[in-house]
Amino acid sequence: MNTINGQIISLAVPVLGDDVKKALCDVIQSGWLTMGDRVKEFESRFAELHGVENAVAVNSCTAGLHLCLAALGIGPGDKVLVPSLTFVATVNAVLYVGATPVFVDIEDIVSPHISIEDAERKYSSAVKAVFVMHYGGYVVDLQAWRAFADAHKIFLIEDAAHAPAVGEVGRCSDAAAFSFFTNKNMTTSEGGMVMARDPSVLSSIRYQRSHGMTSGTLDRQKGHAYSYDVTTLGYNYRMDELRAAMGLIQLERLSKWNKRRRELSGYYRQIIESKITKVNIPFEHVHETSAHLMPVLIPEEANRISVMKKLRENGIQTSIHYPPIHQFSYYKKRFPGVELPKTEAFCARELTLPLHPLLSEDDIKYVCKSLQEAILF
Ligand SMILES: *Cc1c(COP(=O)(O)O)cnc(C)c1O
Repeated sequence: MNTINGQIISLAVPVLGDDVKKALCDVIQSGWLTMGDRVKEFESRFAELHGVENAVAVNSCTAGLHLCLAALGIGPGDKVLVPSLTFVATVNAVLYVGATPVFVDIEDIVSPHISIEDAERKYSSAVKAVFVMHYGGYVVDLQAWRAFADAHKIFLIEDAAHAPAVGEVGRCSDAAAFSFFTNKNMTTSEGGMVMARDPSVLSSIRYQRSHGMTSGTLDRQKGHAYSYDVTTLGYNYRMDELRAAMGLIQLERLSKWNKRRRELSGYYRQIIESKITKVNIPFEHVHETSAHLMPVLIPEEANRISVMKKLRENGIQTSIHYPPIHQFSYYKKRFPGVELPKTEAFCARELTLPLHPLLSEDDIKYVCKSLQEAILF
């Protein structure tokens, strides 16, 4: 294999160190593993970084998306406007609560966010919410979506899996869910966080995270409570102390990592725009972003699988974000006949290049050189 110093250039890697190891050992030493004071602290620090009052930690973003819909009272008979260009979890969550997704196209291939124009066309009185997703970390126009949601008196929900600690993410929607899965901008290995601007919705999310119970195990252990009631249908979507301890450390680095990601994606952009003009890059360089992904559009005539294979031979891992949800066999069967021409055009050409804070400028030069050769091949 042809690589720089025999190292594989991964799409994403978690940045871990001795401080994470120590934090995990401290939790084990403490003898308390399940949701406790560290989770509480992680919630308030994460909220603080995003300029909101509070947040609820969960065991995945997927669980968080489910809780957002459940706590907002979305259910059978309701419709939810959704992008198809997102991870399948966004739309699965709509099905969990028994609501119906209505797929909305993207603006265009250089601005692959869910389109307000198409959302207007697909709006009906059964629509109770709209999901936006900050593709690749590029923040959607939240003010415009807030106005859209207010005009129709529906909820605005953010799938913020790609966009922690950037712009107004988490601040002006009705609810937002973040992911700490291993390949995201910060990680707890598995995990997530939920925000909601109405404190009573956030409080429902908190109860529903833990079986709908009115007191937690730690409260009872500390003698703050002796029994509990169940006031709503809940789930077990709790985060644990090990993950929270890891999250607290990752959180301190997040803004620095996001900045490094932006620098590296700027470097990619510079090389690609000057040397590989057949390849397009979605969004403007100045667009507000956490730079979660480095998506590019390869020429229509290029064979994506062979480009990916060629890069793999050079030790470079690439991926596709995403195969559109409406074309998955499960969704095609349940929701036949959906056509989203712009989403389909984007997804057919999209290729995601490696991007994470441990990459060097030399790695990026090497990836670009390999990409150029793979496309000409
Ligand atoms: C990763 C991701 C999710 C799911 O996150 P988990 O924490 O793994 O459940 C949801 N939506 C998007 C856009 C994602 O990228």
